Amino acid sequence: MRRLDHLSGPEAGRVLDASSILVLPTGAIEHHGEHLPLATDAIMAERIAARIVDAAAADGHDVWLLPTLAYTKSDEHAWAPGTMTLSSATFLATLVDLGRSIARTPARTVLFYNGHGGNVAPLGVALRELRRRFGLRTFAEGIRVPVGDGAEGPDERGFGIHGGHGETSLMLHLAPELVSLSRGVRAVPDALAAFSRIGFAGAPVQFGWLSDDFGTGGVLGDPTAATAAEGERLAAELVEAGRASIAEIARWPIGPREGDDW
Ligand SMILES: [Zn+2]
Repeated sequence: MRRLDHLSGPEAGRVLDASSILVLPTGAIEHHGEHLPLATDAIMAERIAARIVDAAAADGHDVWLLPTLAYTKSDEHAWAPGTMTLSSATFLATLVDLGRSIARTPARTVLFYNGHGGNVAPLGVALRELRRRFGLRTFAEGIRVPVGDGAEGPDERGFGIHGGHGETSLMLHLAPELVSLSRGVRAVPDALAAFSRIGFAGAPVQFGWLSDDFGTGGVLGDPTAATAAEGERLAAELVEAGRASIAEIARWPIGPREGDDW
């Protein structure tokens, strides 16, 4: 296992060079309904990222896993006990501080491997901050699960984004001891399916939402038919996707540059 934090400091300084790729998982500690643990997104990001690092290292890339950033921006679930959220300003500042620290190593490339949808927008801002301020090559990839259009699995009407079939199946594969499947219920905001323009990420019109806006107990999706076998299949797809991403990052033609930390 290529975990950078298991090396000594001097050793880390010796093994890294300008071709090294650091993979930093970003998760969340947030409400995922009755059936999944608060750490769902952190567990998924860390464990899939670890497999990607192993696969990419076997392909010959100099890739290293950094410790998971578990506390991130989960204010859409702040109403729910157990959710631990940073403000967007604190989260962005944390990412900038981590980038500054990475820039003090010989490595010049970081891939954030993200398990939480609420982190996507701030990560996008951070990629540019770290590029401009520290000259790093910066990338982000996220765990994507099918959102449940009914073609395969239960019909989540495209809303299976949080605690639904995909995430629950992944957790049944990755950490079954933490899943209480019998406590999962279908939680799909059916009334929203009549709207073609307004929707979640990818729709033409975005909207501001909190996870208790929908009357679904803070879950979006249908976990009731989730299986470990489906989770294993999704995990294998994610690992292959991440492995292909590392290969592209390794040959990406735009290099590091001088930082301008203002
Ligand atoms: Zn989640």
